Amino acid sequence: MGLFSKKPTICNICKKEVSHKHKPKSEWQIEGPLCGDCYVTQMKKFYELSLRQKCVTCGMEKDVPDLWEPRYQWDMTGLLCKTCFDKKDLEFKNQKSFCTVCHKKLGMIRYNPKKHWVLDGQLCKECWNVNKAKMD
Ligand SMILES: [Zn+2]
Ligand SMILES: [Zn+2]
Ligand SMILES: [Zn+2]
Repeated sequence: MGLFSKKPTICNICKKEVSHKHKPKSEWQIEGPLCGDCYVTQMKKFYELSLRQKCVTCGMEKDVPDLWEPRYQWDMTGLLCKTCFDKKDLEFKNQKSFCTVCHKKLGMIRYNPKKHWVLDGQLCKECWNVNKAKMD
């Protein structure tokens, strides 16, 4: 029985017949089986990918150990280089807690500046009203 039911296995990438099949790793997200060559190629590809990644903000390619995970409050995916991480961290802190004009601590209610005010960050109610009177 066993002898006759033996079907040749085809590598899912190069479509060559495989004598010794390899199962792709689950994180590769590809279908198997694979031949030895394709397996090694994929392994290298993913190993390199796992070592080098681009900063999602500035696009600079770095070794993964030199990249930082964004804080969960930032609501972003990917990794950041140290420079962008620090910048973002500072930006976020400033934006979150202080009025960009008078640097007063902001409570729950904060105001976004209008585009033509050319201000970064958020404003307290007083500064927003002052700006509105001045700029509009
Ligand atoms: Zn193959
Ligand atoms: Zn960067
Ligand atoms: Zn203010």
